[in-house]
Amino acid sequence: QKAQMAGAREERILVVVRLRPLSDKEIIANEVADWECINDNTILYRNTLREGSTFPSAYTFDRVFRGDCLTKQVYEEGAKEVAVSVVNGINSTIFAYGQTSSGKTYTMTGITEYTVADIFDYINRERAFVLKFSAIEISNEAIRDLLSSENTQLKPRDDPERGLIVEKVIEEVLRDWNHLKELLSICEAQRKIGETSLNERSSRSHRIIRLTIESSAREFLGKENSTTLAASVNFVDLAGSEQASQSLSTEARLKEGCHINRSLLTLSTVIRKLSKGRQGHINYRDSKLTLILQPCLGGNARTAIICTLSPARSHVEQTRNTLLFACCAK
Ligand code: ADP
Ligand code: MG
Repeated sequence: QKAQMAGAREERILVVVRLRPLSDKEIIANEVADWECINDNTILYRNTLREGSTFPSAYTFDRVFRGDCLTKQVYEEGAKEVAVSVVNGINSTIFAYGQTSSGKTYTMTGITEYTVADIFDYINRERAFVLKFSAIEISNEAIRDLLSSENTQLKPRDDPERGLIVEKVIEEVLRDWNHLKELLSICEAQRKIGETSLNERSSRSHRIIRLTIESSAREFLGKENSTTLAASVNFVDLAGSEQASQSLSTEARLKEGCHINRSLLTLSTVIRKLSKGRQGHINYRDSKLTLILQPCLGGNARTAIICTLSPARSHVEQTRNTLLFACCAK
Protein backbone atom coordinates (compact mmCIF):
# COMPACT_ATOMS: atom_id res chain seq x y z
CA GLN A 1 0.00 0.00 0.00
CA LYS A 2 2.90 2.29 0.77
CA ALA A 3 4.31 1.84 -2.73
CA GLN A 4 0.93 2.63 -4.17
CA MET A 5 0.75 5.85 -2.23
CA ALA A 6 4.20 6.87 -3.35
CA GLY A 7 3.20 6.15 -6.94
CA ALA A 8 0.06 8.20 -6.71
CA ARG A 9 1.96 11.04 -5.16
CA GLU A 10 4.37 11.24 -8.05
CA GLU A 11 1.59 12.08 -10.43
CA ARG A 12 0.56 15.15 -8.57
CA ILE A 13 2.02 18.57 -7.93
CA LEU A 14 3.41 18.82 -4.42
CA VAL A 15 1.86 21.87 -2.77
CA VAL A 16 3.23 23.21 0.49
CA VAL A 17 2.66 26.45 2.36
CA ARG A 18 5.17 28.42 4.39
CA LEU A 19 4.05 31.08 6.83
CA ARG A 20 6.69 33.66 7.70
CA PRO A 21 6.91 35.34 11.11
CA LEU A 22 5.85 38.95 11.58
CA SER A 23 8.80 41.20 10.80
CA ASP A 24 10.22 43.56 13.40
CA LYS A 25 8.78 46.44 11.44
CA GLU A 26 5.33 44.85 11.49
CA ILE A 27 5.57 44.19 15.21
CA ILE A 28 6.53 47.81 15.85
CA ALA A 29 3.53 48.88 13.74
CA ASN A 30 1.27 46.76 15.99
CA GLU A 31 0.42 44.30 13.24
CA VAL A 32 -1.58 41.25 14.31
CA ALA A 33 -0.84 37.72 13.07
CA ASP A 34 -4.11 36.06 12.11
CA TRP A 35 -2.85 32.84 10.57
CA GLU A 36 -1.79 29.75 12.43
CA CYS A 37 -0.61 26.29 11.41
CA ILE A 38 -2.60 23.95 13.64
CA ASN A 39 -0.87 20.77 12.46
CA ASP A 40 1.46 19.61 9.66
CA ASN A 41 -1.24 19.94 7.02
CA THR A 42 -3.66 22.65 8.01
CA ILE A 43 -3.46 26.40 8.22
CA LEU A 44 -6.20 28.33 9.94
CA TYR A 45 -7.42 31.91 9.77
CA ARG A 46 -8.29 33.15 13.23
CA ASN A 47 -9.71 36.61 13.38
CA THR A 48 -12.38 37.01 15.96
CA LEU A 49 -13.43 40.29 14.37
CA ARG A 50 -14.34 38.43 11.23
CA GLU A 51 -16.11 35.49 12.81
CA GLY A 52 -19.08 34.34 10.79
CA SER A 53 -17.68 35.71 7.52
CA THR A 54 -18.23 33.70 4.38
CA PHE A 55 -14.76 32.60 3.34
CA PRO A 56 -13.35 29.30 4.59
CA SER A 57 -10.98 29.53 7.51
CA ALA A 58 -9.10 26.21 7.29
CA TYR A 59 -6.93 25.15 4.34
CA THR A 60 -5.24 21.77 3.93
CA PHE A 61 -2.09 21.00 1.93
CA ASP A 62 0.61 18.35 1.60
CA ARG A 63 2.51 20.21 4.26
CA VAL A 64 2.32 23.56 6.01
CA PHE A 65 5.28 25.18 7.76
CA ARG A 66 4.95 27.49 10.74
CA GLY A 67 6.67 30.84 11.02
CA ASP A 68 9.44 29.42 13.19
CA CYS A 69 10.38 26.57 10.81
CA LEU A 70 13.86 26.73 9.35
CA THR A 71 14.41 26.69 5.59
CA LYS A 72 16.34 23.44 6.07
CA GLN A 73 13.11 21.77 7.23
CA VAL A 74 11.08 23.29 4.38
CA TYR A 75 13.69 21.88 2.01
CA GLU A 76 13.82 18.42 3.57
CA GLU A 77 10.07 17.95 3.84
CA GLY A 78 8.74 20.16 1.08
CA ALA A 79 11.18 20.23 -1.82
CA LYS A 80 14.08 17.78 -1.60
CA GLU A 81 12.33 14.78 -3.11
CA VAL A 82 11.34 16.79 -6.17
CA ALA A 83 14.63 18.69 -6.47
CA VAL A 84 17.03 15.76 -6.28
CA SER A 85 15.04 13.66 -8.76
CA VAL A 86 17.42 15.19 -11.35
CA VAL A 87 20.10 12.73 -10.30
CA ASN A 88 17.79 10.02 -11.63
CA GLY A 89 17.36 11.86 -14.92
CA ILE A 90 13.98 13.38 -14.09
CA ASN A 91 13.32 17.06 -14.82
CA SER A 92 11.73 19.11 -12.10
CA THR A 93 10.58 22.59 -11.16
CA ILE A 94 10.14 24.22 -7.79
CA PHE A 95 8.16 27.44 -7.57
CA ALA A 96 7.95 30.05 -4.88
CA TYR A 97 4.56 31.75 -5.16
CA GLY A 98 3.31 34.55 -2.94
CA GLN A 99 2.84 38.28 -2.58
CA THR A 100 5.84 40.62 -2.44
CA SER A 101 7.58 40.42 0.96
CA SER A 102 6.04 37.05 1.89
CA GLY A 103 9.40 35.24 1.77
CA LYS A 104 9.82 33.84 -1.77
CA THR A 105 13.43 34.89 -2.26
CA TYR A 106 14.38 33.98 1.31
CA THR A 107 12.94 30.48 0.83
CA MET A 108 14.18 29.86 -2.71
CA THR A 109 17.75 30.94 -2.05
CA GLY A 110 18.03 28.49 0.84
CA ILE A 111 16.43 25.67 -1.09
CA THR A 112 18.74 26.20 -4.06
CA GLU A 113 21.77 25.98 -1.77
CA TYR A 114 20.58 22.83 0.02
CA THR A 115 19.88 21.18 -3.32
CA VAL A 116 23.34 21.98 -4.66
CA ALA A 117 24.88 20.57 -1.48
CA ASP A 118 22.95 17.31 -1.90
CA ILE A 119 23.76 17.07 -5.60
CA PHE A 120 27.46 17.65 -4.90
CA ASP A 121 27.31 14.85 -2.34
CA TYR A 122 25.94 12.58 -5.00
CA ILE A 123 28.37 13.69 -7.72
CA ASN A 124 31.34 13.13 -5.49
CA ARG A 125 30.32 9.50 -5.18
CA GLU A 126 29.36 9.10 -8.85
CA ARG A 127 32.09 11.01 -10.54
CA ALA A 128 30.83 10.84 -14.10
CA PHE A 129 28.56 13.86 -13.62
CA VAL A 130 28.87 17.56 -14.30
CA LEU A 131 26.59 20.14 -12.79
CA LYS A 132 25.79 23.26 -14.80
CA PHE A 133 24.30 26.50 -13.56
CA SER A 134 22.36 29.14 -15.47
CA ALA A 135 20.14 32.01 -14.37
CA ILE A 136 17.66 34.17 -16.24
CA GLU A 137 15.13 36.81 -15.45
CA ILE A 138 11.83 37.35 -17.24
CA SER A 139 10.52 40.87 -17.02
CA ASN A 140 7.67 42.13 -19.21
CA GLU A 141 8.05 38.97 -21.32
CA ALA A 142 11.70 39.86 -22.05
CA ILE A 143 14.39 37.34 -21.08
CA ARG A 144 17.73 38.50 -19.67
CA ASP A 145 20.77 36.53 -18.62
CA LEU A 146 21.58 37.14 -14.97
CA LEU A 147 25.16 35.93 -15.48
CA SER A 148 25.82 38.44 -18.26
CA SER A 149 26.53 42.12 -17.88
CA GLU A 150 25.25 42.78 -21.38
CA ASN A 151 21.67 43.83 -21.40
CA THR A 152 20.71 41.85 -24.49
CA GLN A 153 17.46 39.92 -24.72
CA LEU A 154 17.65 36.16 -24.99
CA LYS A 155 15.39 34.18 -27.29
CA PRO A 156 13.80 30.80 -26.70
CA ARG A 157 14.15 28.44 -29.66
CA ASP A 158 13.08 24.94 -30.62
CA ASP A 159 16.22 22.91 -31.17
CA PRO A 160 15.72 19.73 -33.21
CA GLU A 161 18.00 17.74 -30.91
CA ARG A 162 17.72 19.31 -27.52
CA GLY A 163 14.13 20.53 -27.56
CA LEU A 164 13.32 23.98 -26.27
CA ILE A 165 16.41 25.99 -25.40
CA VAL A 166 17.23 29.58 -24.51
CA GLU A 167 19.66 30.71 -27.15
CA LYS A 168 23.09 31.96 -25.99
CA VAL A 169 22.30 31.57 -22.28
CA ILE A 170 25.48 31.30 -20.21
CA GLU A 171 25.93 27.90 -18.57
CA GLU A 172 28.69 27.65 -15.98
CA VAL A 173 30.03 24.29 -14.87
CA LEU A 174 29.75 24.45 -11.08
CA ARG A 175 33.09 23.65 -9.50
CA ASP A 176 32.29 23.80 -5.82
CA TRP A 177 30.33 25.51 -3.11
CA ASN A 178 32.24 28.80 -3.31
CA HIS A 179 31.62 28.92 -7.03
CA LEU A 180 27.87 28.65 -6.38
CA LYS A 181 28.01 31.52 -3.88
CA GLU A 182 29.93 33.60 -6.40
CA LEU A 183 27.37 32.96 -9.16
CA LEU A 184 24.44 33.69 -6.86
CA SER A 185 25.94 37.03 -5.92
CA ILE A 186 26.53 37.89 -9.59
CA CYS A 187 22.83 37.19 -10.22
CA GLU A 188 21.85 39.35 -7.28
CA ALA A 189 24.04 42.22 -8.51
CA GLN A 190 22.60 41.95 -12.04
CA ARG A 191 19.10 42.12 -10.65
CA LYS A 192 19.87 45.39 -8.94
CA ILE A 193 21.03 47.16 -12.08
CA GLY A 194 18.75 49.56 -13.87
CA GLU A 195 15.91 49.73 -11.41
CA THR A 196 15.31 52.31 -8.73
CA SER A 197 14.20 49.81 -6.17
CA LEU A 198 15.12 46.15 -5.99
CA ASN A 199 11.78 45.39 -4.45
CA GLU A 200 9.95 46.92 -7.36
CA ARG A 201 11.96 44.94 -9.81
CA SER A 202 11.71 41.63 -8.03
CA SER A 203 8.00 42.10 -7.54
CA ARG A 204 7.52 42.29 -11.32
CA SER A 205 10.01 39.80 -12.66
CA HIS A 206 10.53 36.06 -12.49
CA ARG A 207 13.93 34.59 -11.71
CA ILE A 208 14.77 31.09 -12.88
CA ILE A 209 17.89 29.34 -11.67
CA ARG A 210 18.49 26.13 -13.54
CA LEU A 211 20.82 23.33 -12.51
CA THR A 212 21.52 20.76 -15.19
CA ILE A 213 23.14 17.42 -14.52
CA GLU A 214 24.91 15.77 -17.40
CA SER A 215 26.29 12.32 -16.97
CA SER A 216 27.78 9.27 -18.52
CA ALA A 217 27.36 7.28 -15.34
CA ARG A 218 27.79 3.52 -15.15
CA GLU A 219 24.13 2.82 -14.57
CA PHE A 220 23.18 4.36 -17.88
CA LEU A 221 25.92 2.73 -19.96
CA GLY A 222 24.73 0.31 -22.57
CA LYS A 223 21.39 1.97 -22.84
CA GLU A 224 20.35 4.08 -25.74
CA ASN A 225 22.04 7.49 -25.69
CA SER A 226 24.21 6.15 -22.93
CA THR A 227 26.95 8.74 -23.31
CA THR A 228 24.99 11.60 -21.88
CA LEU A 229 21.99 11.87 -19.70
CA ALA A 230 20.80 15.36 -18.95
CA ALA A 231 18.16 16.50 -16.54
CA SER A 232 17.39 19.88 -15.04
CA VAL A 233 15.89 21.25 -11.90
CA ASN A 234 14.51 24.81 -11.99
CA PHE A 235 14.17 27.10 -9.00
CA VAL A 236 11.61 29.73 -9.87
CA ASP A 237 11.30 32.85 -7.75
CA LEU A 238 8.07 34.22 -9.20
CA ALA A 239 6.89 37.80 -9.53
CA GLY A 240 4.75 38.94 -6.60
CA SER A 241 1.40 37.16 -6.78
CA GLU A 242 -0.37 40.53 -6.46
CA GLN A 243 0.57 40.88 -10.15
CA ALA A 244 -2.01 38.21 -10.94
CA SER A 245 -4.87 39.38 -8.78
CA GLN A 246 -7.54 39.72 -11.39
CA SER A 247 -10.12 40.24 -8.72
CA LEU A 248 -8.81 43.68 -7.77
CA SER A 249 -10.53 46.67 -9.31
CA THR A 250 -8.50 48.90 -11.62
CA GLU A 251 -8.49 51.53 -8.91
CA ALA A 252 -7.14 49.17 -6.26
CA ARG A 253 -4.65 47.88 -8.80
CA LEU A 254 -3.27 51.36 -9.50
CA LYS A 255 -3.15 52.14 -5.82
CA GLU A 256 -1.19 49.00 -4.97
CA GLY A 257 1.00 49.27 -8.05
CA CYS A 258 -0.22 45.91 -9.35
CA HIS A 259 0.14 45.09 -13.02
CA ILE A 260 -1.21 42.17 -14.93
CA ASN A 261 1.68 39.82 -15.51
CA ARG A 262 1.16 37.57 -18.48
CA SER A 263 3.62 34.90 -17.43
CA LEU A 264 2.08 34.66 -13.97
CA LEU A 265 -1.47 34.41 -15.31
CA THR A 266 -0.52 31.79 -17.88
CA LEU A 267 1.29 29.83 -15.19
CA SER A 268 -1.89 29.74 -13.08
CA THR A 269 -3.81 28.30 -16.01
CA VAL A 270 -1.12 25.75 -16.81
CA ILE A 271 -0.83 24.64 -13.18
CA ARG A 272 -4.59 24.28 -12.87
CA LYS A 273 -4.66 22.06 -15.96
CA LEU A 274 -1.69 19.99 -14.86
CA SER A 275 -3.28 19.40 -11.48
CA LYS A 276 -6.35 18.03 -13.20
CA GLY A 277 -4.40 15.21 -14.78
CA ARG A 278 -2.28 16.60 -17.58
CA GLN A 279 -4.85 15.91 -20.25
CA GLY A 280 -5.89 18.02 -23.22
CA HIS A 281 -4.16 21.03 -24.67
CA ILE A 282 -1.99 23.03 -22.31
CA ASN A 283 -1.16 26.57 -23.40
CA TYR A 284 2.56 26.62 -22.56
CA ARG A 285 3.26 28.91 -25.51
CA ASP A 286 1.16 31.76 -24.19
CA SER A 287 3.99 33.13 -22.05
CA LYS A 288 7.79 33.10 -21.90
CA LEU A 289 7.86 31.58 -18.43
CA THR A 290 5.71 28.56 -19.27
CA LEU A 291 7.39 28.14 -22.67
CA ILE A 292 10.85 27.95 -21.12
CA LEU A 293 9.71 25.65 -18.33
CA GLN A 294 7.63 23.35 -20.52
CA PRO A 295 10.16 20.48 -20.67
CA CYS A 296 10.33 20.58 -16.87
CA LEU A 297 6.59 20.83 -16.19
CA GLY A 298 4.58 18.37 -18.22
CA GLY A 299 5.13 14.69 -18.95
CA ASN A 300 7.28 12.88 -16.41
CA ALA A 301 8.57 16.05 -14.79
CA ARG A 302 8.06 16.62 -11.07
CA THR A 303 6.68 19.87 -9.70
CA ALA A 304 6.55 21.43 -6.25
CA ILE A 305 4.98 24.74 -5.34
CA ILE A 306 5.93 26.52 -2.16
CA CYS A 307 3.38 29.18 -1.35
CA THR A 308 4.73 31.83 0.98
CA LEU A 309 2.41 33.77 3.24
CA SER A 310 2.54 36.82 5.44
CA PRO A 311 0.63 36.31 8.70
CA ALA A 312 -0.27 40.00 8.97
CA ARG A 313 -3.91 41.06 9.25
CA SER A 314 -3.37 43.85 6.73
CA HIS A 315 -2.29 41.29 4.10
CA VAL A 316 -5.32 39.03 4.40
CA GLU A 317 -6.66 39.67 0.89
CA GLN A 318 -3.42 38.66 -0.80
CA THR A 319 -2.90 35.78 1.61
CA ARG A 320 -6.29 34.41 0.69
CA ASN A 321 -5.55 34.82 -3.02
CA THR A 322 -2.35 32.84 -2.55
CA LEU A 323 -4.20 30.07 -0.71
CA LEU A 324 -6.81 29.90 -3.46
CA PHE A 325 -4.04 29.47 -6.02
CA ALA A 326 -2.49 26.77 -3.82
CA CYS A 327 -5.83 24.95 -3.57
CA CYS A 328 -6.20 24.97 -7.37
CA ALA A 329 -2.74 23.46 -7.76
CA LYS A 330 -3.15 20.45 -5.50
P1 ADP B 1 9.73 38.20 -1.38
O1 ADP B 1 10.87 37.62 -2.15
O2 ADP B 1 8.51 37.32 -1.38
O3 ADP B 1 9.38 39.58 -1.79
P2 ADP B 1 11.61 38.13 0.80
O4 ADP B 1 12.11 36.74 0.65
O5 ADP B 1 12.48 39.21 0.28
O6 ADP B 1 10.16 38.29 0.16
O7 ADP B 1 11.28 38.35 2.34
C1 ADP B 1 10.90 39.62 2.87
C2 ADP B 1 11.63 39.82 4.19
O8 ADP B 1 11.19 38.88 5.17
C3 ADP B 1 13.13 39.64 4.08
O9 ADP B 1 13.76 40.58 4.90
C4 ADP B 1 13.37 38.23 4.61
O10 ADP B 1 14.64 38.09 5.18
C5 ADP B 1 12.26 38.08 5.65
N1 ADP B 1 11.76 36.69 5.74
C6 ADP B 1 11.04 36.06 4.80
N2 ADP B 1 10.71 34.82 5.18
C7 ADP B 1 11.21 34.65 6.42
C8 ADP B 1 11.19 33.57 7.37
N3 ADP B 1 10.55 32.41 7.11
N4 ADP B 1 11.83 33.75 8.54
C9 ADP B 1 12.45 34.93 8.81
N5 ADP B 1 12.51 35.98 7.96
C10 ADP B 1 11.89 35.85 6.78
MG1 MG C 1 11.90 38.50 -3.76
